[in-house]
Amino acid sequence: MKVLKFGGTSVGSVENLNKVREILTADQENKIVVCSAMSGVTDQLVRLVENIKFDDAEAITRNLHQLESKHSDVIDELIEDQETRNALKDGLSTMITEMFEIASQEYSEIINSRIITYGETILTYIFSGFLTSIGIHNVLLDAKEFMHVDSIENPNIEKVGTRLNNVIENSEQASLYITQGFVCRNEKEQISHLKRGGSDYTSTIIGAALNASEVQIWTDIDGLHNNDPRYVDETRPISHLTYNEAAELAYFGAKILHPQTVSPVVGKDIPVLLKNTFAPDAPGTVISNKTYQKGLKAISAKDGITAIKIKSNRMLMAHGYLRRIFEVFDNYHTSIDMITTSEIAISLTIDDTSNLDKIVKEIETYAEVTVDQDHSIICIVGESVINDKNSYKLFEILNFIPVRMVSYGGSNNNISILVDTKDKIPTLRFLNEKLFQAQVEAVV
Ligand code: ADP
Ligand code: ASP
Ligand code: MG
Repeated sequence: MKVLKFGGTSVGSVENLNKVREILTADQENKIVVCSAMSGVTDQLVRLVENIKFDDAEAITRNLHQLESKHSDVIDELIEDQETRNALKDGLSTMITEMFEIASQEYSEIINSRIITYGETILTYIFSGFLTSIGIHNVLLDAKEFMHVDSIENPNIEKVGTRLNNVIENSEQASLYITQGFVCRNEKEQISHLKRGGSDYTSTIIGAALNASEVQIWTDIDGLHNNDPRYVDETRPISHLTYNEAAELAYFGAKILHPQTVSPVVGKDIPVLLKNTFAPDAPGTVISNKTYQKGLKAISAKDGITAIKIKSNRMLMAHGYLRRIFEVFDNYHTSIDMITTSEIAISLTIDDTSNLDKIVKEIETYAEVTVDQDHSIICIVGESVINDKNSYKLFEILNFIPVRMVSYGGSNNNISILVDTKDKIPTLRFLNEKLFQAQVEAVV
């Protein structure tokens, strides 16, 4: 059994849905297919949630009518048979009615989750109906029946496996199953979600739960590139990455992968392939436990970072001081990404600022605290990157860009610097030229 995940652009138009169909029918292997919502739909649902929060009935109606007509147009274009078309439109309209009902309730976290996961529910319903209408036998599975994730950081894979096997056993037998990415149930069995971009994570949770032979993540680019293609020209795909490398890159901002994508499959050694829906023959990237090449592989950037400097003369030689500081962050469930220390000060970074005020207030009782927002962590990643003979060139950046923090040697596989977000793009471009140009020259 393989798991194949198709992202927003891959399912974002009738033309692309037909490309997905071709990929699914290219071989006879058993498959579970995880689909995202059509591109732009989850963003629209996030806006709908805002309308619900502000009780804006007119905007809610407008938004839901737009959503219905977008998907209704897809049904019209995709499905030839009139009867199937009508049946699918009836189903769509039932879902829109349900959404109106949910939208009329008072805002809560559960309302948020119920609304923003509808994009996946609607798309899989239409896609499954389309495949059936052209004679491709498939069974639609409701992810809410098996994707129980008590803790997003640490999902109970065994529980998902037991429930999913149960759902499969009790449904019609098929070699092709379709289900929704992103949606899950939480520890209270309430509808929840795996955070933005979470369909990647759904696919590896399912892959691990069923001991799949591999997980394929199909998107709009031919694998993970050595730098962010949105900001840097001449990036190139990387053919192989280790789980560690992929995890570092995903965590530190490579948008192609949800930050937790690889964690469920690492222990089971299930390979993850990143493939391009629009160039299915391109090799893409294979993520596994094999190291094909050591040294620098890729650069990524994570935005929305807040740097906090904590300074105190009392820190001088005082043991237990760091523990005292870390305890404050721990008490507010705020994780720390980068840390540097001097004898009288410590600088660290966080990305979740929801408890920042309380943290600062508490630490200010015994130290001076300075907070700098809007920073980006730029990471260079590769097995043993700290031993790569070109890595020193990273530090030439100091000639051009003010660097707020540096983290070197925390792991052998990652060197990170912290810069103001306004300097992110020049930094990525500079590093691309310095570090990868050197690689190209070495090969020539
Ligand atoms: P999907 O909707 O299929 O999940 P995403 O938009 O989440 O797709 O991820 C694919 C996008 O990630 C690419 O179009 C690309 O712009 C962006 N991206 C950012 N960093 C990288 C990288 N290092 N390699 C490849 N793509 C990247
Ligand atoms: N549709 C969700 C999002 O846009 C999940 C995903 O695409 O992975 O974040
Ligand atoms: Mg994505």
